[in-house]
Amino acid sequence: MQEVRVRFAPSPTGYLHIGGLRTALYNYLFAKGHNGKFILRIEDTDRTRYVEGAIENLVDSLHWAGIKYDEGVFVEDGKLVQRGEYGPYIQSERLDIYRRYVDELIEKGYAYYCFCTKERLDKVREEQKIKGLIPRYDGLCRSLSLEEAKERIANGEEYVVRLKLPPNKDITFTDLVRGEITINTDDLDDQVLLKSDGFPTYHMAVVVDDHLMGITHIVRGEEWLPSTPKHVYLYEAFGWEKPTYVHLPTVLNKDRKKLSKRHGDVSVEDFRKKGYLPEGLVNYLALVGWAPESNKEILTMEELIEEFSFERVSKTGGIFDKEKLDWVNGHYIRSYDLDKLTEIAIPFLKEAGYIDDNFVEEKYEWLKILVETVREGLSNVSEIVDAVDIFFKDTIEIEDEDALDVLKWEETKPVLKALKEEVENVDEVDQEFAKTVMKKIQKSIGIKGKKLFMPTRVALSGKVHGPELVSVIYLLGKQNILNRIEYIEKNYLN
Ligand code: GLU
Repeated sequence: MQEVRVRFAPSPTGYLHIGGLRTALYNYLFAKGHNGKFILRIEDTDRTRYVEGAIENLVDSLHWAGIKYDEGVFVEDGKLVQRGEYGPYIQSERLDIYRRYVDELIEKGYAYYCFCTKERLDKVREEQKIKGLIPRYDGLCRSLSLEEAKERIANGEEYVVRLKLPPNKDITFTDLVRGEITINTDDLDDQVLLKSDGFPTYHMAVVVDDHLMGITHIVRGEEWLPSTPKHVYLYEAFGWEKPTYVHLPTVLNKDRKKLSKRHGDVSVEDFRKKGYLPEGLVNYLALVGWAPESNKEILTMEELIEEFSFERVSKTGGIFDKEKLDWVNGHYIRSYDLDKLTEIAIPFLKEAGYIDDNFVEEKYEWLKILVETVREGLSNVSEIVDAVDIFFKDTIEIEDEDALDVLKWEETKPVLKALKEEVENVDEVDQEFAKTVMKKIQKSIGIKGKKLFMPTRVALSGKVHGPELVSVIYLLGKQNILNRIEYIEKNYLN
C-alpha cells in the first residue's frame, strides 16, 4: 500500500487559529494512525498578508500542542530550518518551480496570458452585478494567440496567467466527509494561477506542491471546498493522479457563526495565555466535529490516534463550546503532574505580584502544595490567581452572608481562641501540626464537626467553601493564622 502523506499548510498571517490547530491535529492523528508522514508547509505566496515572526509562532504553537511533524519547517536555536527530501517547504522559495509548471500549462493550452487591467476587470464586474450575474472574468484574453501574448509581454505589458477552463464540463471528486461532489465548469471562474508580481496564487502552488510532495490525502477546512474543482482540473491538466480530499466542518461559535477574533479568544496563543493545558485543548478540539465510536470524552493523544477516523467526522459545523472545553481542561488540571502544573502556574502568580524569583527558589515545596490545594476547582491555570488570593492577603474582609452568619455562632469565639492558643504554642505550623490541630481542639473544648470547622474556615479564608482545611492551615503558617484570628476577633466578634 502507498505510504500515507498528509500536510498542514498554513499561511503565516500572524497566529494559529484554533480551527487551524484542529486541522493540524486531524492530519497528525490520521498520519500517526496509518504509519504515515506529516508535513508542515508554509504557504506564503500572498505577500500582502505576510506577518513577521508568524512562522515561528505557528511552529511554536504546534510544538506546544504536542503535534509533531516529520518534514517541513522547524525552529532550532531560534532559527528556521527545513528538513525533508521534498523541500523547500516554504512556498516563496519555490517560485521557479511554479513558473515551470505554469509554462507547461500554457504550452499545453490549459492556461493563457491575460492583460486585462484592474480598471477593466472592475468595470466588467460592475456590469455583471447590474445584470444580476455572478461576477467572473469574461474571457476577453482567452482567444489571444500565444505569439501575440508573448509580443505584448516583450513590450513590457503587465500580465497574469489564468486557468483555461473548458465550457460545460462536469468535474467530479469524492470527499471522505461529504461524498461525491460534482461541479460544472460553467459555474467556475478562469482562476488566476500566476499573479503580476510573479508569485503563483494559492491554487497553483497548492496543486503543484501537493503533487511534488507526494501528498495522498488533503485534509483542510471546508472553506476550501469551492476551490477543489479547480484543483482537480489542474491535476487532470497535468496528468497527475489526484489525492483524496477531506474537508472538515468549520469551527463555529454557539450562534453557529465562524469563530472570529472579534468574538473573543480564537488563537492557540490566547488559550495558552489563559492557562489551558495543551492536553486539554487538544483533547477538546478533537471532539469539535468528531466523536470516537466509544463516545469517550477524555482521550489521551495515543487514544485519539487509535480511535480517529474521517468516517466519524461530521458534515455540519463543529460547535466550539467553551464550557465543555473548561470541563475537559479541568479534568487535565486535576490529574496533571504536580511539578509540571506548578511550573505553569508560577508565571501567573508572578504576574499577579504574589511571588518573585526568590520566593520560587525558597518556597518551591510550599508552592507545590498551594497548587495541589486549589487545583480541584480550576478550569484553567489563570484562575489560580483568584483561587489563592486568600494565602497572599494580610487581612481578609468577610463579605459573604453565610460566612458572616458563621461568625455569629456561639461556638466561633471559643474555637478561634483555642486555635490561637495552639498556634501560639508552636514554633512553626508544619504539616504534622496542620493535620492534628483540629482533633486536639475538639478534644480540649468539646466542639466538633461543622461547629468546629466552619468558624475556623471562615476566619482563615473568609468563605464557607474552599480548599481543604489542613492545607489552608499549613499554607497560611503561624503568623498569618494569628493575624487573621486577631483581625476577626477585633472586627467581627464582640
Ligand atoms: N494556505 C491555506 C490556508 O491558509 C491552506 C489550504 C489548504 O490546506 O489547501 O489555510
